[in-house]
Amino acid sequence: DFDRAAPHGTGHVKAGLNYAMSLHAHEVAHANGFDENMFLDPATRTYVEETGGANFLFVTKDGEVVTPALVGSILGGITRMSIIELLQSKGYKVSERRLSIDELVEAFKAGKLEEAWGTGTAAVISPVGELCYKGEEVLINDFKTGELTQKLYDTLTGIQWGKLPDKFNWIHKVK
Ligand SMILES: *Cc1c(COP(=O)(O)O)cnc(C)c1O
Repeated sequence: DFDRAAPHGTGHVKAGLNYAMSLHAHEVAHANGFDENMFLDPATRTYVEETGGANFLFVTKDGEVVTPALVGSILGGITRMSIIELLQSKGYKVSERRLSIDELVEAFKAGKLEEAWGTGTAAVISPVGELCYKGEEVLINDFKTGELTQKLYDTLTGIQWGKLPDKFNWIHKVK
């Protein structure tokens, strides 16, 4: 019911004012027992964009990872990019494309929705246990952290903390 970013606006950059747009919606989500909102594209409210502070990705039972393409009202997070590169290096097919909320619900109904998660610097990867759209509830991986979700979290934080080798050249020494 709310828009986070406007077409041709500032939603694609890290600016404090963007958070203001998601605060009220966040309160409403909390009041209804949810942690976050899944914002849809502001022009048609058809396509999945992201949450107020994290990008969205999901994996199908066929092993395809889908995430909304970076249209102007989505912030292209560094965590999203890192996770995409990690997945591709492990041989996963990652599709950055338009993703309608109906497709997501249909994938669930067809039993194809395996795991879903949000990405952002603060939480790194946060599993999505349940989505609710127009009263329809979609339970993901039995509300448990998925195997791939956990593995990606362990790998990315492992690289960040210098505990795993960084073959991507992401780590820089701060002198
Ligand atoms: C910060 C943020 C993200 C995640 O970006 P990272 O660079 O991974 O931290 C995604 N969406 C929004 C709206 C954000 O503010």
